[in-house]
Amino acid sequence: MLWWRKITTWCRDHWLALAVFWFVLICVVLTWYGMSKLESFYRNMQLATMPMWILVWVAIGVLNALVYVKIMFGYFSKMDSAKKVKGEQVRVRFDEVIGIEEAKEEAQEVVQLLKDRARLKKVGGKILRGILMEGPPGCGKTYLAKAIATEAGIPFLSMAASDFVQVFVGVGASRVRKVFQNARRQAFANGACIIFIDELDAIGRARTYSAMGGQETDQTLNALLVEMDGLQSREENVVVIGATNASEGVLDPALLRPGRFDRKIYVDRPNLEGREKVFAFYLSKVQVGPDINVGRLARISIGKTPAEIENIVKESALIATREKRDAVSYKDISAAIERVDLGVKHRKSMTEAERRRVAYHEAGHLITLQVFHPTDDVFKASIIARRGSLGVVFHNPREEFHTQGKDKLLADIKVSLAGYVSEKLVFGETSTGVSGDFQHAMGVAHQMVWSLGMGSKYLGDWMMPFGRQTPFSNGNPLLSESVKAELNAETNAIFRTCAEEVEKMLTKERVILDRFANELLKREELEYDEIEAIFSEYGKARAQK
Ligand code: ZN
Repeated sequence: MLWWRKITTWCRDHWLALAVFWFVLICVVLTWYGMSKLESFYRNMQLATMPMWILVWVAIGVLNALVYVKIMFGYFSKMDSAKKVKGEQVRVRFDEVIGIEEAKEEAQEVVQLLKDRARLKKVGGKILRGILMEGPPGCGKTYLAKAIATEAGIPFLSMAASDFVQVFVGVGASRVRKVFQNARRQAFANGACIIFIDELDAIGRARTYSAMGGQETDQTLNALLVEMDGLQSREENVVVIGATNASEGVLDPALLRPGRFDRKIYVDRPNLEGREKVFAFYLSKVQVGPDINVGRLARISIGKTPAEIENIVKESALIATREKRDAVSYKDISAAIERVDLGVKHRKSMTEAERRRVAYHEAGHLITLQVFHPTDDVFKASIIARRGSLGVVFHNPREEFHTQGKDKLLADIKVSLAGYVSEKLVFGETSTGVSGDFQHAMGVAHQMVWSLGMGSKYLGDWMMPFGRQTPFSNGNPLLSESVKAELNAETNAIFRTCAEEVEKMLTKERVILDRFANELLKREELEYDEIEAIFSEYGKARAQK
C-alpha cells in the first residue's frame, strides 16, 4: 500500500495549497452564479469596481504580512528551514568513494541492515538508530553518508549542526524537532530516511552547566536527545548519521549511550594503497605526462586526505596550464604539494646580514635533521619567505608511523633547537626568529614528561583519581607543588641535554654548516638530490633505503 501512503503524505505536505485551491474555487463559482442573476446595469457596476477592490485587499494583506514578520522575527534571511535533499538527487555510489576502504566496508554493512530491517526484526536484532562518523576533515564523511543513502535507495536530509546554533534560546531546539518531523514523514512515504548532521560537535559538546551562556546549545542538544529516543518507540525507520572531527572526549557522553550514536565508523586518512587509488582517480580527470608514477606520488604525500590530494591535482593542473603545457608532469605535482604545505612564496627585501642569519638558522635545522632524525628525510631547504616564516626546512617521514618513540621525539626537539644553537654559535646572539622553534621544542619536552611518562621517574607513583581532567596539566589543582616542580625539572633536563648535544655536533661539523649556509645564500633553495649530493661530499649521505 505504498501508493496510498505516498498520496496521504502528499496531501499532508500540501494541505495549505489544497485548502486555498478549494476556497478560491468555491468563491469563483458563487460569484459567477450571483452575477448571472443580476440585471446588466448592476453587473457592469460590480465589474467596474472589482479590480480596484482586489488591488486594495492585496495591498492590505501584503502590508500586514510584512509588519507581522518584522515584529515576530526581526529578520528574513534566517527563516529557511533545513534544506531538503531527496535520495534520488544524492547519487553517490560506493565505487566513487575511494581511499577509505575500511570505513566503506562498515558502511556497506549499514546499508545491509537498512535494507533487511524486516529480517533483522524477526531475528530480534538491535535496530540501527544512530551512526557516528569520526575522523579528520576532508576524508569523505559526507560523501560516505550520501553513498549509504544512495545505495539503500532512501531520502537523505542533510544539515550542519551550526545551523541549529542560534542567538535566541529555543530556536535551535524547535528547528531540530522540525527536521525530525520532516524525516519521519519521508520515512513514512519511502520506507526509511537518513538525517545527516555535519559538525555534530557544534551542538554535541559536553554540556556546560554554567550560569552564563551555553543555554541555547544545551537546549538544542536536549531536543536532539529527546528526538533520538523518540525514534526507538516509533515504527518509522529513521537513521541519524552524525559527523565530527572532534575526538570522543569532546562529545557529550549522553550522545554515545546505547540507542543513540552507538555505532561508530572511523573515517581515517587513507594509507599508502588508499592514496594511490585517490591519486589515480583524480589524475584520470586531467592529462598526465609519461613521468607520472602514482606509487611514488602516494609515497611523498604521507598524511594527506583525499580532499587535499584533489586540491594538489587541481593545483598542479593550474601550474601546467600557466606554463603552457598540455600535460601534468611530476614536477608540477611536487610544486603543488609544496604550495599546499608551505604556502605561496613572498619575496621580501632583506638586508644581507638578515639573509646570512636566516641561512645559518636553516642550515642548522637541516644538518641536525640529517644527523639525528631517525624517521624523516629533508625534501627541501629554502630561505625564500613564505606564510609568516623567513625560511623553511621541509621534511617528511620516509614511511607512515602511527606511534612516536622516544628517540623520534628527542630528535624533534633537537631539530627545533638547532636553528637557535646555530645562530648562537655563529653570531654569538639570537634573533626573534627562534621563538616558534622554542615553543615547539618546549611543547614536545613537556608532553614527553607530563603525559607520556618518558622522564626518568615512574609516573604511576603520582596517579590519582582525576576524573575527566587531564591528570598532569599545569592547571590541575590536585597536583601538588612539589610534584609540579619535579616534573618541570625533568622537562628542563631534557631540554638542556638536547641543546648541548646539538651544540657539540654543530661545532664539530662547522665546515658543513658554513657550506650549507653559503649554498643557501647562493641558490636560495636546495632540493632533496642537491642536499644529498653535498652530504655525500663529506661522507655523510644517508644509506639509501
Ligand atoms: Zn627555525
